Formats: sequence, C-alpha cells, structure tokens
Amino acid sequence: MPRVLVADPISAEGIEILRDGGRVEVVVADAISAPDLLDAIGGFDGLVVRSRTKVTREVIARADRLRVVGRSGVGLDNIDVAAAAERGVAVVYAPGASAVSVAELAIGLMLALVRRVAEADRSMRAGKWERAQFVGEELSGKTLGIIGLGNIGREVAKRAAAFGMRILFFDPLRARSLEDLAGVEETDLAGLLESSDIVSVHVPLRDETRHLIGPQALARMRAGAYLVNTARGGLVDEMALLDAIRAGRIAGAALDVFEAEPPVGSALLAEPRVIATPHIGASTREAQERVGREVARQVVRALATSIQHTRNGGR
Ligand code: NAD
Repeated sequence: MPRVLVADPISAEGIEILRDGGRVEVVVADAISAPDLLDAIGGFDGLVVRSRTKVTREVIARADRLRVVGRSGVGLDNIDVAAAAERGVAVVYAPGASAVSVAELAIGLMLALVRRVAEADRSMRAGKWERAQFVGEELSGKTLGIIGLGNIGREVAKRAAAFGMRILFFDPLRARSLEDLAGVEETDLAGLLESSDIVSVHVPLRDETRHLIGPQALARMRAGAYLVNTARGGLVDEMALLDAIRAGRIAGAALDVFEAEPPVGSALLAEPRVIATPHIGASTREAQERVGREVARQVVRALATSIQHTRNGGR
C-alpha cells in the first residue's frame, strides 16, 4: 500500500481524500522537523507540504520511494522542483484555489493603509481619541498598479474595479485573455511604478523576480504611493523599502510575506506606516478546504498513475 506523509497541516477532508477509501496509508506528522523529515522520508511514496516544510535536494535524495510531492497551496519556492524532476518525482499543487482569499486580503490591506486602520487602532488602545490625526484617503479614483496578472492579480483587479479604481498591470508573460477584466490597462513596469498610487505585487518568486521592488523601482514610484505585497517576501528588497518609508517617499506598506519568516527583529515592524500580517493570505477556512481537497485529489491521482506505470515496467 502506498504511504503518504503529511508534513504540514491540511484540512481533514484533504486527509480523507488522501486515504482513498483505505487504499493509501496516511501518516500525519504536521510539525515534523527538518532532521526528522530527512530520517523519515525514505519510507514514503507521497509527501504533502504547505510552505513551512522545505523539500530540498537533500530531502529528495533520501526519498528512495517518493513518487509525488503535493504542495497544499500556491508557489513552489519551498520545493526543489529541478531535483524532483531529475528523480522523476511529480510535483502537484493547487493553483487558483486560494486566489480569492489572497485577493481579499490584498484589498483589505489597501483599505487599511489608506484609512490608517492599524495606526488608529493602536492609538485607541493607548487610550487616545485622535480623530484629526487619522484623515485618510479614498481608494475611489486612485490608480492601482498590479504586477503579475495571474490567478490572484485578476481577482484583485475585479475587486479594485468595484471600488472605482483605475487599474494598470504589468505582466509580460500573461497567459489568459482580458475578456472578463474590462478596463484594465497594460503597461511596462516603469510606467506602472510611475503612475500608480498603490502598487500590489502578485508574481512568483524566481531568480529573475528576486528584489523586483528594489531601490530603483522604489525610486520610480510616486511620492506618497503605497506598496502591498501578498506574494513572496523576496520580491521586495526590505532594506530599500525601509529607507523609502523612513525618507517619507513611500507613504506606507502592507506586507503579508517577508524575506525571512518570521521576520525576527525586522526594523520594518517598528515603522508606524507599515502593516504586517504573518503570511495569512491563504489562511481562510474556504481556501484551506479548497486547497486541501484539490492537492489531495492530485496526489492520489499521481500515485495511481505511477503505480500503473510501475506495473507496466517503467518508473
Ligand atoms: P499565477 O501563476 O496565477 O500568476 C502569476 C503571474 O505573474 C502570471 O500571470 C505570470 O505571467 C506573472 N509574472 C511572472 N513573472 C513576472 C514578471 N517578472 N513580471 C510581471 N509578471 C510576471 O500565481 P498566483 O496564484 O496569482 O500567485 C501569485 C503570487 O502569490 C505568488 O508569488 C504566490 O506564491 C503568492 N501567494 C501568496 C499567498 C499568501 O499566503 N500570501 C498565497 C498564495 C499565493
């Protein structure tokens, strides 16, 4: 019987699907340490992770039986996909399953930034009543620049349109049509940065996108603009962002993701105009149920296919 290790928490329904009516043995060790994973992985045909567990080349080298890695979520930057491919290990994930949740968080963070919700809340908790200090701005009539118009970027665009925003996007690799996104305008990165009141990042983290928002990009942004990052920490150069905020050039930033997570000791967290959330973009009941279901189905399918394949003499 194939054995699957669930190394990060996934929904109960996802685990039930993985069991495949008793045809798959599922071991849940959803707080397993990196050394324990290295010791255990040799005994498993499937591995399911979220973003906490790092599926490194070393893990894959020790995984003699492994046939599939399921990433419960989006973004494969915690999985060495090249190492998996070399060993014939399939990598499956759940694209789109958490897009609405992440988009709703991005919109919520935009509203929180322009209305200074977190600052106002801190002020009240300190016993103050500073109405005059918290004069904000409307989203309506502002320009939103979306970098990366994929599953999440598109959901952000639809919601921002309902707020009366003008929407620019930059995505030279865009695969899907703009049919259901009336009014969004394509531009280059420089044009987007120069014209947007709020820049929201929605691209995957790869070598070529690392520090996409660095000193040069930040210098191109409008004075008084805001930055929202619900994609990946490494996309934004945090030191450069800190400098831009301290200099008052960037009015504020909302960050759900960080270069190091948790961002222990980060000076950004001490900045009043920074809103920080602990990588909770996909952390809704609905998204977790959808993601768990989808990835479990794919893992079961991959195991069934590779069992057949093995019986037929291949790997
Ligand atoms: P997606 O693959 O559907 O969309 C990404 C888009 O970025 C694509 O349209 C692609 O063409 C575009 N792109 C790639 N490189 C680009 C570049 N250099 N410049 C401009 N555009 C580029 O992915 P998605 O599901 O929309 O996810 C977007 C991001 O959100 C990813 O980084 C993902 O890891 C992250 N994410 C975060 C959370 C969270 O909890 N905060 C949850 C899910 C996903």
